[in-house]
Amino acid sequence: MSKTYYLPQGNEVELFKAAAGMNLPVLIKGPTGCGKTRFVEAMGEELGRDVYTVVCHDDLSAADLVGRHLIDENGTYWQDGPLTKAVRHGGICYLDEIIEARKDTTVVLHSLADYRRVLPIDRTGEVITAHPDFMLVVSYNPGYQNVLKGMKPSTKQRFISLTFNYPKAEIETEVIVKESGVDQKIAQKLVAIAGEIRQLSDSDIQEAVSTRLLIYAGKLIAHGFDPYQACIHSIVESLSDEEDVLAVLEKLISLHF
Ligand code: ADP
Repeated sequence: MSKTYYLPQGNEVELFKAAAGMNLPVLIKGPTGCGKTRFVEAMGEELGRDVYTVVCHDDLSAADLVGRHLIDENGTYWQDGPLTKAVRHGGICYLDEIIEARKDTTVVLHSLADYRRVLPIDRTGEVITAHPDFMLVVSYNPGYQNVLKGMKPSTKQRFISLTFNYPKAEIETEVIVKESGVDQKIAQKLVAIAGEIRQLSDSDIQEAVSTRLLIYAGKLIAHGFDPYQACIHSIVESLSDEEDVLAVLEKLISLHF
């Protein structure tokens, strides 16, 4: 299996390893599509720990994390959820966009994130002490809301926090070349476009263009699409539905391609 490609943006690798070594949970803040998930996957690989990723949403239940009773021809049996698997056998449980989950779902995390490192499972009466290799990692987008507000002080003061942003121009260029297959020159243009769009704050764009969208544009170009069209269908259309905003973005792209 080839190694997961991750180009560090700063000291996040050292911090993550230190947190893992100290059995501390990690909180990653950052806009969508800036490399958080890729980073956690790469760290799991480097530390030799399985990563159990759960993308949170408002319908996520505690049972989706912890587990549930299922029925087959022999009767009912218990099936561990991703969180319980990581707690029991060791591994990284990564809760992406934790802010989307309801509070009554994430309350099970408190005793795992603080000094106790235990997971009580109400439905089976079990209280599992976390495996030494268990690690809790959560991410959220601070643009929307503050995740710390919903946490107990004893829990929130245990997290090692990492703040991610879109990578610096040279790093983002390298990532785009590597992930999409376009040449350096095209990647530089895409990064320049992103730089300009990211300056358009306070406009009707809810969220600036992510590294992920730039990679999509690069992939379409590498596939043979006209660069202008590629940018329209990956970057522009994904960022807004407003006619006037679209017009501004189209103009901006046309100045580069
Ligand atoms: P997030 O979890 O922050 O929403 P992802 O981790 O899914 O974002 O990143 C989106 C894509 O961007 C990844 O699939 C990867 O191709 C690319 N990427 C972003 N940053 C990096 C990086 N530093 N190294 C390697 N790939 C990266």
